[in-house]
Order: sequence, then C-alpha cells, then structure tokens
Amino acid sequence: MFRSNRRRIVLKSREEIELMRRAGQIVARALDEVRRHTRPGVSTAELDRIAEDVLRRHNAAPVFKGYPNPHPGGPPFPATITACINEELVHGIPSPHRVLQEGDIFSVDCGAYYKGWVGDAAITVPVGEISAEARRLLEVTEQALYEGIAQGRVGNRTEDISAAVQAYVEAHGYSVVREYTGHGVGRNMHEDPQVPNFGQAGKGVPLKAGMTIALEPMVQVGTWKTRVLDDGWTVVSADGSLSAHFEHSFAVTDGEPDILTLL
Ligand code: MG
Ligand code: MG
Repeated sequence: MFRSNRRRIVLKSREEIELMRRAGQIVARALDEVRRHTRPGVSTAELDRIAEDVLRRHNAAPVFKGYPNPHPGGPPFPATITACINEELVHGIPSPHRVLQEGDIFSVDCGAYYKGWVGDAAITVPVGEISAEARRLLEVTEQALYEGIAQGRVGNRTEDISAAVQAYVEAHGYSVVREYTGHGVGRNMHEDPQVPNFGQAGKGVPLKAGMTIALEPMVQVGTWKTRVLDDGWTVVSADGSLSAHFEHSFAVTDGEPDILTLL
C-alpha cells in the first residue's frame, strides 16, 4: 500500500504549478461568486449555474460533472459544484428544490479543468445570521486547513499534515471525518498520496518539492461517522450534527507551502 502509493506520486515542475495556479484561481473565483450570491431564498441549483458560468467564462470545464460514483452502481455526479446544507458533509447534488434558509451553513466544493490541469477547493458559508456554534465550527474547520497546510513542507511527511488537522479540530471538541480524505491533485482530481484528516505525526509519505495536494478538513460537531443518502451521493453526518468543509490545493516547495486556489 505504502509502496504503490509512493510510486504513483507525480511531481510537478514550476511551469506546471503555474498552470495549476491558473486552474485554482478560476475555482477561487467561482467559489467567491457563489459566496456573494449565498443568501436566504436562493436555490442550490442557481448557485451551481453561477459557478459553472464562471468556469465557462474562463475557458475552464467542471471536473465534477459526470464524475464516476465512488459507491458501486451509483449514478455519475450531475453538476459543477457539490452543495451541502447543515448536516450534509460532501457530495450533495444541487437542486432547484433545495432553497437556503436563514441560519443554514452551506458547503460548496468545486473543481475545474484548465489546460489539462485541475484546481480543487471548497468553502463553507453562513446563510444570513447563524448560531454561535455554527460560526465556531466554520472558524475551527477553516483554521484546521491552514494548520495542516503549514506542515506541508520538505522534511515532513503526509501524516504531519493529517495530525495537525486532527489535533486542532479535536482540541476544539469536534470530530474529523475518516472516510473521505485529502489527496494529490494535478492532471487528475484524485492522485496519490492520500492525505487523511487524522494520523500520526512522522508517518506517511515524505513530502517533496513539486508535490501538489488538495487538503480538505471535513469536521463534524458530533460523531466522525457518516452515511450516504439514497440519492447515491450526498454524505451526511451519521448523527445529524452540523458538518463543515474547507479545501485548498497547494504545492510543496523548497520554502513555504504555496496555496494555488487563492484569488
Ligand atoms: Mg474539492
Ligand atoms: Mg478534493
């Protein structure tokens, strides 16, 4: 497992990383546009259309649309963003019938292909005024992402990233999801190595300059366990507690980690 994992890691040149940054910036624009349109009364299908318009305007294509279902026999994903409300964690399908309400939290994940390279990022956005608990969940999850990225440097291993995410989240009393993980990213959305949001410092694959990783803490107020709804896609917390999700794609360099999905 470890050996095959390491064999399939693709290091990127500086030029390739710049192309990935272009893809990542298009994703960041799409997410920013979705954030600015997130309000009570808007449907998740409208927000999906807004994101897809941004991608098309920049000559980029959605990665998620038509993406094969990870669960055996399930349908391919039908949209540009995944749209998740409250206890929904990841892979929610946008719908004209899902309308955001005051007090919801809304998680949106988006992937774009640009000139053969993938950008992948996610944010969780408050809808109007949200509860103090929901706000704290968003702050902890976003900060956990940056705690993890800060460990993404030469000399460390993948699980140094994982352990930093887990420690930060658990110190705040929340749970990190086990079944879905961060991942290498490049010409494909999912490449090696896997980067879980839990692990033991000092373990995993040695980080090298040119590795590009999509780190994506998924955090739940209650249990770390999840289940999949009957639509074959939407993952929810098993206990119905609130879930949040933030993601950036970044490059390991000889110096500081280089986040590729910033505006
Ligand atoms: Mg993503
Ligand atoms: Mg991802």
